[in-house]
Amino acid sequence: MLELSYDLHIHSCLSPCGDNEMTPANIVGMAYLKGLDVIAITDHNTCKNCKAAIEIAKQFNLTVLCGMELTTAEEVHLLCLFAELEKALEFGDFVYSKLFKINNNEKIFGEQIVCDANDEVIQKEPYLLINAVDIDFFTACEVAEKYGGVAIPAHIDKSSNSVISNLGFIPADASFNCVELKDIGNYERLFQSDACLCDYKIITNSDAHFLGDINEAVNHLSCKSKSPQDIIQTLRNRI
Ligand SMILES: [Zn+2]
Ligand SMILES: [Zn+2]
Repeated sequence: MLELSYDLHIHSCLSPCGDNEMTPANIVGMAYLKGLDVIAITDHNTCKNCKAAIEIAKQFNLTVLCGMELTTAEEVHLLCLFAELEKALEFGDFVYSKLFKINNNEKIFGEQIVCDANDEVIQKEPYLLINAVDIDFFTACEVAEKYGGVAIPAHIDKSSNSVISNLGFIPADASFNCVELKDIGNYERLFQSDACLCDYKIITNSDAHFLGDINEAVNHLSCKSKSPQDIIQTLRNRI
């Protein structure tokens, strides 16, 4: 088994709240400098900057997972990660069809920039991406898996936009086996109120919106290989 250093929750300049310096090339370059083995690009409700990041990462020994941070109808943030770009983009199209089409006000929320592999701007997403989409939490988990992905409730230790804060508990009948903590130091506190937490694989990520916030190579996943397929399978497995 390989011990892969990871950061699987990174926002690019396509998220309105992501810094404009978070271009795919800058993110990949920073991840390389930090010595990470695998990263995921997880913009709010879109996968459209993943293609550029994957292309750039080919020059480095870095695996990029396609992903998004979906905001469910209950306003729960859910990481959806995919091994294949095509499947991720198809999932992205489905999510886009369920997005409430409200124009983005760049002055208030920030720009939403889609880049190519040369960091050239190829599109600005016109509709605000941070709102909840019309997909409930359970359906979102199922559909992500249908597209070959894995769903991971994001920052479950946060007091907003998390499965615990918004649904009140970790649903035992949901299909995911992995959850994300913003701060691994919160594990004991959460475990006291929900002992079933010990059944889940726990990961922790930066949720970076600025280049300097991308994690150092301090968190590790045991995987068979660095292939996106093996990493996704590891995240699907129970501990
Ligand atoms: Zn979030
Ligand atoms: Zn996030």
